[in-house]
Amino acid sequence: MDSFGRTVDYLRISVTDRCNERCLYCMPEGYKGWERKPDHLTAEEIIRVARVAAGLGFRKFRLTGGEPLVRHDLLEIARAMTAIPGVECVGLSTNGTRLAPLAQPLRDAGLRTVNVSLDTLDAALYRRITGGDVNLVLAGIRAAVATGFERVKLNCVLMRGVNEQEIWPLVLFAAEHGLPLRLIELMPVTSTEVLTERNFLPISEAMRLLEQRDELVPQPSPYLGWGPAKYYLLRRTGALVGFIGAMTNPHFCETCNKMRLTADGKIRPCLGDHGEIDLRDTLRHAPSDEAVREVLLAALRRKPLEHSFRNQYHPGRPMTAIGG
Ligand code: SAM
Ligand code: SF4
Repeated sequence: MDSFGRTVDYLRISVTDRCNERCLYCMPEGYKGWERKPDHLTAEEIIRVARVAAGLGFRKFRLTGGEPLVRHDLLEIARAMTAIPGVECVGLSTNGTRLAPLAQPLRDAGLRTVNVSLDTLDAALYRRITGGDVNLVLAGIRAAVATGFERVKLNCVLMRGVNEQEIWPLVLFAAEHGLPLRLIELMPVTSTEVLTERNFLPISEAMRLLEQRDELVPQPSPYLGWGPAKYYLLRRTGALVGFIGAMTNPHFCETCNKMRLTADGKIRPCLGDHGEIDLRDTLRHAPSDEAVREVLLAALRRKPLEHSFRNQYHPGRPMTAIGG
């Protein structure tokens, strides 16, 4: 439990800050974040952190990045993590472009859930937003569904003037395939320029857009996993849509249950707060797990009441390194 009485049992692990895409809101144009090669944690180090965290009561883990599927030893990490006693669920967040051939091996490695980022179904717009090929993502989603993951969710970042007209097609796609769709407010990560008054689209507005077409029936919270989304069932289409309003929902942080492990081995108690504690040195120089446990607990004690995104937060590190 953290200092504010929240149960923190979810660790998101950025396994790399590398990515094969360059999303507008995550890797802004001209971003030079890859010049200095970070000293990534090894697979063994990541697994050790997960083991110690599980011993402390962490139950849910997510492999993210950067793009986790660019890391060649991801299957090894997934296999070892899912075998740790106390680990209830290991999920994956991916852009989906490399998912098709890896879905089955990932499932066999014990991964249970997959979140795939998909901001549009339109190939040209997808390329403009991410630099990638939407057909690869769609193939990845189909493969994940066919493989029998317990849950495959879609994540869409809302951008006014870019993809608000894509929300309804995405809702229909989600309904057709029986996949929950989450609509996410832009956050000022990586650089402050990614969020401007012009391109910010609040979830309240996305909700109004959907209400013009269907009836939104609120679902109990928490719902569908352990994330911060507030879910609605769209009565006629049957789609399940979650809204993630980190910027506009004043209660957003009240139920926060997570910490992050960055690609270079820092524990970050909150995405939107600069506080981080280095764990890599401890992992490399302290033979006992007790020292690792102490760092995790120290980070937990420092978990802030809420993020600082609304208070002139200036990102110090890219989203890809922190782990989205
Ligand atoms: N590469 C994987 C992917 O795209 O899903 C995993 C890492 S990515 C950083 C994790 C999530 O963070 C994605 O759903 C992405 O859309 C989201 N994200 C990245 N930058 C964001 C921003 N500025 N605001 C809100 N969400 C963002
Ligand atoms: Fe890569 Fe994911 Fe960031 Fe897009 S959101 S640039 S896919 S890490």
